[in-house]
Amino acid sequence: MLDIKDLVVEHGNMRALFGMTLNVRQGERVALLGANGAGKSTTLGAIAGIYPPRSGSIRFKGTEIAGKPAAVNVVSGIAMVPEGRRLFTGMTVQENLELGAYAPSLRKGVQDRLEGIFDMFPILKEKRHQLSGELSGGQQQMVAIGRALMSKPDLLLLDEPFLGIAPVVVHLVMDALRKIAEGGVTVLLVEQNVHRAFEFAERGYVIEHGHVIMQGSAHDILDDPDFSAKFLGVD
Ligand code: ATP
Repeated sequence: MLDIKDLVVEHGNMRALFGMTLNVRQGERVALLGANGAGKSTTLGAIAGIYPPRSGSIRFKGTEIAGKPAAVNVVSGIAMVPEGRRLFTGMTVQENLELGAYAPSLRKGVQDRLEGIFDMFPILKEKRHQLSGELSGGQQQMVAIGRALMSKPDLLLLDEPFLGIAPVVVHLVMDALRKIAEGGVTVLLVEQNVHRAFEFAERGYVIEHGHVIMQGSAHDILDDPDFSAKFLGVD
């Protein structure tokens, strides 16, 4: 479904990705792991179309999308839940959700999708007319996930969805993400906490200095002595 090859991305004149190569098959749940600043968010941003790459290829469902704008990629089936959620805090929960389906080609079935999101996160139905800035961190994360689902994605990109939310809500969000994946959505997740990442993902890539240094099943990565020496215990 997603094939990234030799991807180079720069922020201004600072290079963040130095030839990233990775792939995600249809229906998979894959985690990007690695320290702060390794290039995980930049990778998601390049896929979504927020950071146009300097060179390299991003193929999505067989089509080259490197450099295509985010608004085009959303319609093609790529939705991103950015780090820190980035909601419009002065707008209501429902207005934020509806923004996920703003493109004309996504308008059909909006009401049904909205109901589906309210079934998944009943608290959002209760608070649908409340300003999203008044919600707790976990509830805001539910809105951000719901907003992404409103665009009917085939591929969902999640940047640290558990960051800054209460432990009890982590389980709710984890269960929802599992249901979303079981419903056929392919998921690429950035998560610093390795154990939490593999509670969800079946396969992972370890990123360092803008490229992949290790990849494999959850089992392979967790059992790798180099990996444990470097990353475990630093959650
Ligand atoms: P984190 O978990 O801290 O977000 P990360 O692995 O996701 O880490 P990136 O955010 O992709 O890493 O950052 C890769 C490098 O690019 C870092 O050196 C970071 O400072 C830089 N960088 C990221 N985003 C920008 C930006 N919008 N403008 C300038 N530099 C950026």
